[in-house]
Amino acid sequence: RSVPLTRALISVSDKTGLIDFARALSARGVELLSTGGTAKALREAGMSVRDVSEVTGFPEMMDGRVKTLHPKVHGGLLALRDNDEHLAAMKEHDILNIDLLVVNLYPFEATVAKGAEYDDCIENIDIGGPAMIRAAAKNHGFVATVVDVEDYDAVLKELDENDGATTLPFRQKLAQIAYARTAAYDAAVSTWMAGAIGETTPRRRAFAGTIAQTLRYGENPHQQAAFYLDGSNRPGVATAKQLQGKELSYNNINDTDAAFELVSEFGTEKPAVAIIKHANPCGVATGETVIEAYKRAFDCDRTSAFGGIIALNQTLDAETAEEITKIFSEVIIAPKVDDAAKEVIAKKKNVRLLETGGLPDVYAPITTYRQVAGGLLVQDKDNGIITLDDLKVVTERKPSEQELQDLLFAWKVAKHVKSNAIIYVKDGATVGVGAGQMSRVDSTRIAARKAEDMMEACGFDKTPTIGSVVASDAFFPFADGLITAAEAGATAIIQPGGSMRDQEVIDAANERGLAMVFTGMRHFRH
Ligand code: 5GP
Repeated sequence: RSVPLTRALISVSDKTGLIDFARALSARGVELLSTGGTAKALREAGMSVRDVSEVTGFPEMMDGRVKTLHPKVHGGLLALRDNDEHLAAMKEHDILNIDLLVVNLYPFEATVAKGAEYDDCIENIDIGGPAMIRAAAKNHGFVATVVDVEDYDAVLKELDENDGATTLPFRQKLAQIAYARTAAYDAAVSTWMAGAIGETTPRRRAFAGTIAQTLRYGENPHQQAAFYLDGSNRPGVATAKQLQGKELSYNNINDTDAAFELVSEFGTEKPAVAIIKHANPCGVATGETVIEAYKRAFDCDRTSAFGGIIALNQTLDAETAEEITKIFSEVIIAPKVDDAAKEVIAKKKNVRLLETGGLPDVYAPITTYRQVAGGLLVQDKDNGIITLDDLKVVTERKPSEQELQDLLFAWKVAKHVKSNAIIYVKDGATVGVGAGQMSRVDSTRIAARKAEDMMEACGFDKTPTIGSVVASDAFFPFADGLITAAEAGATAIIQPGGSMRDQEVIDAANERGLAMVFTGMRHFRH
């Protein structure tokens, strides 16, 4: 639906670009309505403009607190132009259609940033502006809403391309931006107020989400915490149905998320199980059956698996449930839990059992956030994917078919392990995981040593790393890490490559008969 632009209401605090934009609108025959300061600026530039106070029949009052809060304004923004009753109401009450709203808000954030007094901050909370923005954006079927000086040019371009009208997709896009602005604005007000009055309860802090649970405590008992839903309905810990067990804790939620996201990497083609401790996997495996996958994941690190979080990519059956409940686990999460398995788990009252109803799309675009002192770090979720075609063999020996399969498996797991991450894999199961070390060679050593421990614990006849393959989440800066892996019995390596000393590392691999592939992509996770 194209809507011809006949009338615009402009009410801006930041007058950057205003004159040029308003003049360009005027030149296209658009009638301008404005509030006090904006109208004054336009008149001084020689433009003709109508005062909103003339339209409403009310003066701006109370220090500008009430300027545009009037049915003549809001009716003009909200009326549906294809609804006879709305049109009749407009006619009866002399309401003019407003087709474009241009508003930027009182500079609340800037006022706070310059350290203004409480009352000054309060006075800089814009009321009429957000009200108009929300109204116009809601009625984007007919009205275009501009909240950002940066978008002025896009409006003119849109008018030029559409014979002086705006199109629905354009108005939709502007509406989305508009709501992002009002949401951020109110969040800024709430955050400032929380500081001003000393409110620290997490569930009372501004955040773009809805509260799901006030947690008993955070990462530690002396920290308050809350859990929010982001509205995406992504299958996982946030939206799962809890079938039994105690309330989830902050750490449970964090670890369960890590577990389920990891296991979801494997789709549903083949059963896969991940066991997580402190957000890192202590065992990940695929198998012909769910129970086989579980047992193989468990064998990677039986010691750490105690009190872990177990995630499955397929239905939890009774047989696997029996096996899992031989030791204590904090949480089990699966797309589905069959009735017999529910009965088995029910005997362990404390185990939290979650059913998600499905697997998430692990490659859906998602934004992640991390707080730093005074700021927020925002980035895309790591959706990097590597296929056989992306691999570059850099050694004399090429990996065998089995090695290639395991290399890709190890690489998938590496993405979910805190850096520096080193993962030893054999036959679709991790046999050693080195996580979160400050040096890569230490990760390589720790993973190999743990595998040795498991030889005794599981009664294997040889160290599980013998004949394994290894993934490194980022390049080996020196050959020592690769040499350690080779000494542990690894036969093939997958790593991004790109180190200054790549050649040294390749030489070390060749000397030991190892096959090595470069991905050209790394998977830091901090
Ligand atoms: P002007 O400089 O034109 O006098 O004022 C523009 C500012 O007033 C804009 O930032 C706009 O968001 C804000 N504004 C418009 N209507 C109202 C209202 O009714 N109440 C308040 N508090 N602010 C308004």
